[in-house]
Amino acid sequence: MRATRRQLALDERGFANLARQVRSPNHDARPAGTAISLVVVHGISLPPGEYGGDGITRLFTNRLDPRAHPYYAAIAAMKVSAHFLIRRDGELIQFVGCRERAWHAGASAWKSRERCNDFSIGIELEGADDIAYATAQYTMLARLIRVLRRTFPIDEIVGHADIAPGRKTDPGPAFDWARLRRLLAPRQR
Ligand SMILES: [Zn+2]
Repeated sequence: MRATRRQLALDERGFANLARQVRSPNHDARPAGTAISLVVVHGISLPPGEYGGDGITRLFTNRLDPRAHPYYAAIAAMKVSAHFLIRRDGELIQFVGCRERAWHAGASAWKSRERCNDFSIGIELEGADDIAYATAQYTMLARLIRVLRRTFPIDEIVGHADIAPGRKTDPGPAFDWARLRRLLAPRQR
């Protein structure tokens, strides 16, 4: 008998029932009355190109040891976060409730509207710009976006590079946008 997969759902504050919750202090309120209309897909690995460690959760909770890796000294003091992280095996971790503003986009603009953190949900994929993302990550990303679309008036899904060109490159050329679109397309019968 096939095990029934639990339905992914958000509570009224935008916390996902199936996510491992790791609260980040790096968030604040969205401007009053702002509709959440954008999903920003990111790629991150800490140390760069290495998977499975606790660097990302430490960075997003201000606990990254600047001496633990040469790369960390430059980023350890940054106050950053995202709403979600999807690890290589598809595990979903949540740092900030969707109704709050996470600090993932930085200086950014989409269709000449600035400060994308105000109106977006940030989803990090554990990965690197030029290494294929894992199937389990696409599956979870699509599940999550479907739920977000049911809850918020999401009308576009973009990459960090799209809203901060010249400054950011993630999720990089390795991210397969066509694959995500196929997963999100209404099911054919
Ligand atoms: Zn990013």
